[in-house]
Order: sequence, then C-alpha cells, then structure tokens
Amino acid sequence: MIEILGRVLVSLLLASCCVVGQQQSVAFLDVTVVPMDRERLLPHQTVIVDHGHITAIGPAGKTRVPKGAQRLDGRDKFLMPGLADMHVHLNVHGKDGFPRNEDYATLFLANGVTTVRICGETQAYLRFGSPFQRAM
Ligand SMILES: [Zn+2]
Repeated sequence: MIEILGRVLVSLLLASCCVVGQQQSVAFLDVTVVPMDRERLLPHQTVIVDHGHITAIGPAGKTRVPKGAQRLDGRDKFLMPGLADMHVHLNVHGKDGFPRNEDYATLFLANGVTTVRICGETQAYLRFGSPFQRAM
C-alpha cells in the first residue's frame, strides 16, 4: 500500500502543485481520496480544485466539473493531504554529500511533503525561500 501511495502520490502532487499554482480549475477524475480523518478510502471520487482551493469532492459521474477545468485521470491513483515535516535543517553551509538547498524543495514534494518547519535557520529560509516557493 505504501509503495502504491508513494508512486501515485508523486504524480498527483506534482500535477496539482503545478497546475493549481497557475490559478485554474483542475478536476481529478475517478480518484481514490485518502481523507485522513480516520482509516478509510473514498474510491471513485471527483475532486475539484479552483484557484488553489478544493471546492468539491463527490462521487465520480455525479460531481459537476467546471467548464474549462483541466481534467486529470485519477483512475488507480490516490489523492491525500500533503504531509508536514516539522524538523528540517537546510544545508546552508554547503556540506558535501548533502542535497543543495534548491534540491530540498523537489525532494520534499517527491515524497509528498508540502509543508516544512525549518529549525534554527531563519536567515537561510529567507535566503532560500524562493526555490521552495517555486517548487511548491
Ligand atoms: Zn534539529
């Protein structure tokens, strides 16, 4: 299950982040939603995201898709809230063997993390905030 989530989550997250960031409506069609309120799955759902906000979640085929919305095939894929990493240190000192700051944002997104709490390096966050914002 975890392997499946990781594989499909990446494409949905990247798709939603890139598309939603462009301020247009996106419809995830026939996707399985992982609501995270308790242990359950909601299969065959349509999820509408409009200007960065979820505006509708409902059964596929019964949920209206706005005209002009980009339609993404969610069959055999899962959609879940982004994860949060609450203890992150950036590679502000350029240590070899560690990812560059610019690569962190992509690594977080590739693993489903859309929120990070950066510990102790406020100046680094401010300096490297733009790569995170671009990737998110
Ligand atoms: Zn620490």
